[in-house]
Amino acid sequence: MKNFISRYIYTILAFVFIFSSLSFKPLSNKDDNINSEPSEKFESTFFNKKSITDGPYIFYENDEILVKWIQNNHLKEKVIHENNFKIINRKFGFDFEPNWIVQNNTDSINYIQNYTGVENLIAVSDVHGQYNLLIKLLRKHKVIDKHYNWIFDKGHLVILGDVFDRGSKVTEILWLIYRLEQQAKEKGGMVHVMLGNHELMVLNNDLRYVHEKYTQSANLMSTTFNQLYSSNSFLGKWLRKKPVLVKINDMQFVHAGVSPKIVRYGFTQSEINECFINKIIDKSKKSVLADSSLALLRGKDGPVWYRGYFSESKITEQEVNGLLNYFDAKHIIVGHTSMPNIVSYYDKKIIGIDSSIKNGDSGEILIFKNNEFYRGTSNGALIKL
Ligand code: ZN
Repeated sequence: MKNFISRYIYTILAFVFIFSSLSFKPLSNKDDNINSEPSEKFESTFFNKKSITDGPYIFYENDEILVKWIQNNHLKEKVIHENNFKIINRKFGFDFEPNWIVQNNTDSINYIQNYTGVENLIAVSDVHGQYNLLIKLLRKHKVIDKHYNWIFDKGHLVILGDVFDRGSKVTEILWLIYRLEQQAKEKGGMVHVMLGNHELMVLNNDLRYVHEKYTQSANLMSTTFNQLYSSNSFLGKWLRKKPVLVKINDMQFVHAGVSPKIVRYGFTQSEINECFINKIIDKSKKSVLADSSLALLRGKDGPVWYRGYFSESKITEQEVNGLLNYFDAKHIIVGHTSMPNIVSYYDKKIIGIDSSIKNGDSGEILIFKNNEFYRGTSNGALIKL
């Protein structure tokens, strides 16, 4: 009898245990499931204060560091004393490391941009101020976590130009990628921020495509938008060291494309980067056009404007082979010409990754892993290219 009762109790206990584990399992699964947002969307403190609509703009002014931002439609500013950048965290929700100031001043410029042995790579182009869509793509493909921190380990992230203009969240994107660049370095990964025609336009005071929000910000600061990215500004100084051409493994990255004319002229990758950084940015249109080689680089056959891979009178495969030979590459990867999704021409010799993120509705990122290319969609799917 005693035996029977204890067996009875054990059986009940076993049932209770099985039942409770069954009923709790789905709940814990749901919590772990990264795809169970969107409630997670606002968990990050990064730029989450509604009253602040723009900034931070950080300037080096007469041996002082000055931070400016727009709050409730008014200009606010603060001089930073003794490297105390806590205000950035209070207002913008991320830690600004004081050593970033020194590093930004002393970082050397790398005209030669060749990287090999990269196993995981993600590239995105022509984001044009569409911060929310960019966050979604980077989160879905595990470049960042829900706090927007780098979780891509030793991976390389390529921002293929045209962060500026059109959209209204350019500042947020620039700080996001600046911060990711620092975090990636610590993890053995890398962020490549490359210049597109819209970076060149803004830095050279061509403000035709600037969102009205930024014209207002500049007005409130009694200046023009390009001055918010002057060589005395933190982000302006950073951007002025960025390349136009980067080669990773056998992939030649360039915002718009390299044309046969550029090759005939005999430019090397490092010469092109050097010309843009030292002879085109901050120089008047007149002085650039006076030099035929600079005029070619800056113009419609140059690397930030060329559309010859997509236009009606498209480049031939033979010409593409010539370009690949010249740059010792197997793929040329470009943005600039907007398509509904990522496209491949001539069996992936040309890959176009401007997937119309600028419209803010949908878009894709290029993923390279296990030696294959994939289109990464905004719902996290992978489609083999
Ligand atoms: Zn472009």
